[in-house]
Amino acid sequence: AKNLRYKTKIAVIGAGQAGLSAAYHLKKAGMEIGRDFIILDEAPLPGGAWQFRWPSLTLSTVNKIHDLPGMSFEETLVTDETAVRANVSVPHYYDLYEKKFSLQVYRPLKVEKVFLRENRFYIDTTQEVLFSALGIINATGTWESPYIPEYPGAALFQGEQLHTKDFKTADYFQGKHVIVVGAGISAIQLLDQISKVTTTTWVTRRPPDFKVGPFDDMAGHHAVALVEARVRQGLPPLSVVSVTGLPVTPAIKEMDRRGVLKRLPMFSEITKDGVKWEDGRTERADVILWNTGFRSALAHLDPVLPKEENGGIRMTGRLATMVAKEPRIHLVGYGPSASTIGANRAGGAAARELLKTLDE
Ligand code: FAD
Repeated sequence: AKNLRYKTKIAVIGAGQAGLSAAYHLKKAGMEIGRDFIILDEAPLPGGAWQFRWPSLTLSTVNKIHDLPGMSFEETLVTDETAVRANVSVPHYYDLYEKKFSLQVYRPLKVEKVFLRENRFYIDTTQEVLFSALGIINATGTWESPYIPEYPGAALFQGEQLHTKDFKTADYFQGKHVIVVGAGISAIQLLDQISKVTTTTWVTRRPPDFKVGPFDDMAGHHAVALVEARVRQGLPPLSVVSVTGLPVTPAIKEMDRRGVLKRLPMFSEITKDGVKWEDGRTERADVILWNTGFRSALAHLDPVLPKEENGGIRMTGRLATMVAKEPRIHLVGYGPSASTIGANRAGGAAARELLKTLDE
């Protein structure tokens, strides 16, 4: 039994864009932090997953960071040369945001398991504390759940298998032949950088879906609507890129000119020293870099989250943040709200709806 126990009304798990937005709205509704609600986060510092992004991800290579409610990102930008780095500027913004609205976060504190006893959710952590709450706003993002598909022979490979999450700098790959897997934005950006310092082979499951012309709001709304419709039916969410396609940027045109966009279909097996295709063709590799995405980090909720037969979670509520079969749990930054703008709005909807549910 844990020695330290804290009772509260609402536990917000995760302090990224989604968790901070939810916390802001709880406070605005009159909830007192530390008494009526708490925020828990396993990361050492403010910044959500942004603190772990690779150094070459800059404000010009991210899509767009939308403002949290009540404070503009723009105003917090510092002007030294590191400020363009997303892993510096976004954590700096969240840090100032937490201070401005006095949103004290318990960190680093990893939530391991949430379970129900007599109508209270018990939140077990890696430390000597056990929290209990009447409702949960879960905002744990995806960074802690990298996804790598299974291929025969993976265990035989004597080179290195890395995921997007492990990428730090392209220089690390100098002198190595790198197989870059994936057709998303991260795959393209890392392929671009790595192919400037070494040889690469690009493989994707489906031909990449390049979209010429500007990526407008309409395309964004359409993508979000599709993902929202899926989670309302209890289907697992899809990545946004699978719905919107890849906008053709000047960087992509330049990659095409350099000849690094010659894409091959997925290999069928991994060998000791490379990969092999169905037709018998082989390719040697020192590294396989899997840019195959992330899944929602929800394992800690397994005991309390009702799942559909296909493993999905049926969502409801104004912005589809409410778990249909357990309305005391909201998922923000999940499915249609897995973007800074989506997470932002979802935090507000979740705070209001959960307070209403608990009042009833
Ligand atoms: P996160 O920022 O991941 O925050 C989740 C928090 O939960 C973390 O602080 C983590 O420590 C904590 N946590 C996780 N598990 C636990 C646990 N068990 N116990 C306690 N704490 C836990 N979106 C955009 O809108 N624009 C972009 O330009 C953009 N660029 C992106 C680039 C990359 C490379 C990636 C991977 C994603 C990008 N996204 C972008 C999507 C982005 O992840 C979301 O927009 C948004 O930042 C996610 O916010 P979040 O609060 O849901 O999650």
